[in-house]
Amino acid sequence: MVQGVANWNTETTEEWLQNYVDDWVSFYRKHTEDGNVASYIPILGEANKNHLGISILGSDGLSIRSGDTDISFTIQSISKVFSYIVACMTRGVSYVLDRVDVEPTGEAFNSIMHLEMRNRLEKPFNPLINAGAITVSSMLEGDTSDEKLNPLFELFERILGYRPEINVEVYESERDSSMRNRAIGYYLLETGFLESDLNITLETYFKQCSIEITIDDLAKIGTVLANDGEDPATGEEVIPRQVARLSKALMLTCGMYDASGKFAAYVGVPAKSGVSGGIIAVSPPRVREESLPFKNGCGIGVYGPALDEQGNSIAGIRLLRHIANQWDLSIF
Ligand code: GLN
Repeated sequence: MVQGVANWNTETTEEWLQNYVDDWVSFYRKHTEDGNVASYIPILGEANKNHLGISILGSDGLSIRSGDTDISFTIQSISKVFSYIVACMTRGVSYVLDRVDVEPTGEAFNSIMHLEMRNRLEKPFNPLINAGAITVSSMLEGDTSDEKLNPLFELFERILGYRPEINVEVYESERDSSMRNRAIGYYLLETGFLESDLNITLETYFKQCSIEITIDDLAKIGTVLANDGEDPATGEEVIPRQVARLSKALMLTCGMYDASGKFAAYVGVPAKSGVSGGIIAVSPPRVREESLPFKNGCGIGVYGPALDEQGNSIAGIRLLRHIANQWDLSIF
């Protein structure tokens, strides 16, 4: 019996779900004390570590939002999913697969060690670690970072109905501090992986990480992925089905870095995190039980800048795990 859905299918469903999520957000807010905000990008260190918010949007339009819902934050590594999608859409899936693999590393997001070991196999492990993501940024078409990112902004605009902006302060903070990413970039250059100029590539990567977004945006984008690339609100195919499914497979196996296995086992949905504390999670439609909330699928956006050791929102993961278990959101 799935708990927490006792009043499902009654007139008060929405209110009931809202109260339920409110209760758990205030419970897990205490867990933010167990984590720390990222500070290797100095400006991210200014975030309030006790913030926690969640937005759940069903394919049928049911929206449950709770906690700190109105904060905008930079998308960071969550952008890697969407630059990958754009690269697949503009360059073709096989072109991209030939250059960046689809294997998890079991290592930190900014690991250099594995990149080096993979050299003999001629490509970075996957597009959701920095080495793979920087390679993908180099594949985007255009001579400048703005040209390269234009299709990414267009994709967001098509889904969200507005064009998000780059947070220039965060961009500059990352650009001026990211020595590790520069090292990865030089390594990629030396080994011949980069498809465009190193500085333009890094500028593209830092800018895409600095796109400002909200949890409602992540939930909305999540509904598109939940429906294999089709926006359930309009019926329009925004992302080709094959690309959406490939991206979800990568999110499931690599999206939470070296905690991806645990996340798949304990939460069981494709997801992607970023160091600013955002997570996008995707629950596809389920056929099993009539009475489950969000049975037709949903997208979930979470924000909680206190991170665990792997760089994932500590309270965000616990909250997601709780809700996913209670509502049987797992894809398995
Ligand atoms: N911009 C960050 C970096 O490259 C993104 C990392 C992340 O969100 N995990 O270091």
